[in-house]
Amino acid sequence: MPEGDTIFRSARTLHKALAGKQVTRFETALAPLASVHDDTPVEGRVIEKVESRGKWLIVHFSGDLMLVTHMLMSGSWHIYRAGERWRMPRSRMRAVIATHDFEAVAFNVPVAQFHTARSLERSTTVPKLGPDLLSDAFAADEARTRLLAHADDEVADALLNQRVMAGLGNVYKSEVCFACQVHPFRKAATLTESEVQCILDTSRRFMAANVADGASGAIVTYSGPRRTTHAANRSDRLWVYGRQGKECRRCGATILMRKQGAGARSTYWCPQCQPMLQASHAGSVEKVEGWSVPVRRRKVGC
Ligand SMILES: [Zn+2]
Repeated sequence: MPEGDTIFRSARTLHKALAGKQVTRFETALAPLASVHDDTPVEGRVIEKVESRGKWLIVHFSGDLMLVTHMLMSGSWHIYRAGERWRMPRSRMRAVIATHDFEAVAFNVPVAQFHTARSLERSTTVPKLGPDLLSDAFAADEARTRLLAHADDEVADALLNQRVMAGLGNVYKSEVCFACQVHPFRKAATLTESEVQCILDTSRRFMAANVADGASGAIVTYSGPRRTTHAANRSDRLWVYGRQGKECRRCGATILMRKQGAGARSTYWCPQCQPMLQASHAGSVEKVEGWSVPVRRRKVGC
């Protein structure tokens, strides 16, 4: 599933290419969108802005109309210059927004709805998202309150919940827990204040690092598969995600993986760096100090 940073970058690229321009053509393979387009044509409207809210991407048109999309597991938005060949077959096209110089194409997007400001506010499908980790105005206190309100949820599950905070996906969920030495299967209720602070700070830092703007500001049309790190081989940059059975980069213990939550998403962690603290003895269990010293400790709970 695309992480929030991927959607953020897609939205930013689409915004650069489309904002302030008039729609010269709109096409869709989705009947509900076509029906709205028939009644209130998209062509001729001006694209006011393109924004991401967590994993939702919203295209705002003049005249109080928004195209709201969610990528789920398979969808993506590509931007092409007029006449450039698409990198995916036309059969996967779900919507095209064309201006005189660009075409934005949604491929395999499983969730796409037109909304007015009012219908979006009332929508039960589009969730009311928690604070957006990539927003300059990130409301840390609100995120903290929402996280602790999910006291009975396992931490990694709560981090995936876009109503708690918007943006983290399955990869960062495990990486953030590792960075904060938090066992991903602990209940949110067992988090200490400093652990909560670490989770919020680290989540923002990891997300922000992945949306750092290129120097040129040029619009890069679709150029290959999603890239989440600056490393040539992204697995070299991850601490635990996808590393089941390999040595922890910090302590040498074997990285574990277990399916977690209603969606049975893969969760990775180091049993030594991220001990399972039970709430009942959270006050008495020593914390691992520093990262460099391999600590031989009794495994607790995992
Ligand atoms: Zn470790």
